[in-house]
Amino acid sequence: MILAENKYKTLVRAGEWKSPEDQKEILAMRVQVDEIKKKKESRSRRFEWKKKKKPSDLKEVKQVNDKKYHWCPRHALWTLHKPK
Ligand SMILES: [Zn+2]
Repeated sequence: MILAENKYKTLVRAGEWKSPEDQKEILAMRVQVDEIKKKKESRSRRFEWKKKKKPSDLKEVKQVNDKKYHWCPRHALWTLHKPK
């Protein structure tokens, strides 16, 4: 995944994609890189809640998707481990 991203950047920077075949490859790679970016974004959005302790979170523990999360002040995150 990271390899595709790096190869894409290297090829673009070097301008080594002049032939139609290379352009086809670079296009395919760009789609791949976009997919990776989209995945990264949706993933970070999905875990956004872990960084916030809402006033409605009265307890330091809560259940999300069958998992028990503890509010860890040290990491300032909802985590699977108990704060010490
Ligand atoms: Zn922690």
